[in-house]
Amino acid sequence: SMASPALLMRVVASAYSVAEKAATIVRNVMSAGDLGIVEKAGPNDLQTKADRLVQMSICASLARKFPKVTIIGEEELPTDDVTEDLIEDGHCEEILKKPCPAQYTGIKEEELVIWVDPLDGTKEYTEGLLDHVTVLIGIAYGGKAIAGVINQPYYNYEAGANAVLGRTIWGVLGMGAFGFQLTEAPAGKHIVVTTRSHSSALVNECITALNPDAVIRVGGAGNKIIQLIEGKASAYVFASPGCKKWDTCAPEAILHAVGGKITDIRGNPFQYNKEVKHMNSAGVLATLRNYDYYASRIPNNVKESLVP
Ligand code: AMP
Ligand code: MG
Ligand code: MG
Repeated sequence: SMASPALLMRVVASAYSVAEKAATIVRNVMSAGDLGIVEKAGPNDLQTKADRLVQMSICASLARKFPKVTIIGEEELPTDDVTEDLIEDGHCEEILKKPCPAQYTGIKEEELVIWVDPLDGTKEYTEGLLDHVTVLIGIAYGGKAIAGVINQPYYNYEAGANAVLGRTIWGVLGMGAFGFQLTEAPAGKHIVVTTRSHSSALVNECITALNPDAVIRVGGAGNKIIQLIEGKASAYVFASPGCKKWDTCAPEAILHAVGGKITDIRGNPFQYNKEVKHMNSAGVLATLRNYDYYASRIPNNVKESLVP
């Protein structure tokens, strides 16, 4: 008889369904009209009712199925008042049927760390830039991002009433990434994607130094990785602290699964073990192709201004 699926594939298959439930919550909170906005560190660091409900839904659902996995979510919330309607216990059959890459078949629950950004692009969500929003579930093993799910709840929302709203992108290192069409950025053009709501003098100085043909300013770390894998941009450049491990874990796994590269601005890889500092203090540099082109053009003074 068939051996039961490897733990990693069961976690990814569950994370897929949990992220779809999350997307439904994100859309329902918006259509109900009361976002319940709370300022965290300041006016550019917001939390809504959707961030809160989705975090409870994802963390409680995954913890119930995989009690020994470490789950780290962005929002600081009480964990005792999760209502049963927030629990998702389904999984994606198609993912479960795929063979686990050999190097990950022996992973045990206590060796996994799941980084959860319940709603990435909150500022844009509150401003109605709905397709910037993603739900991020990143899975780490041995300090590395090895699998991830990115749900985009409002994918296609400007494509008309007949378009299917929302999508789920997922990937595993050594297997690939699915749920989108991998597309190269225009050849010979340098298109930089960066923050729209967390700019600074250093962020802009770094972009200017790259002399890009175009700059795209959109919200969300998940959304910016989607810009890279769908050929809309050639590099994600963010010379600032602000991004956290839950912003980069799922995007990193998916980008690396299709041959891209993400580091901090100084070229250091990110670590995702449970003890790691949450803040990506030295910013983000990511590409699908030509990483070295961009890395070699980051000015030294920019690198020196950002301490990991
Ligand atoms: P952005 O590209 O501005 O959408 O940022 C990507 C992710 O990093 C989002 O989750 C932001 O909330 C977070 N982030 C970036 N910069 C900051 C900041 N200065 N303060 C708080 N969060 C930030
Ligand atoms: Mg985020
Ligand atoms: Mg968030």
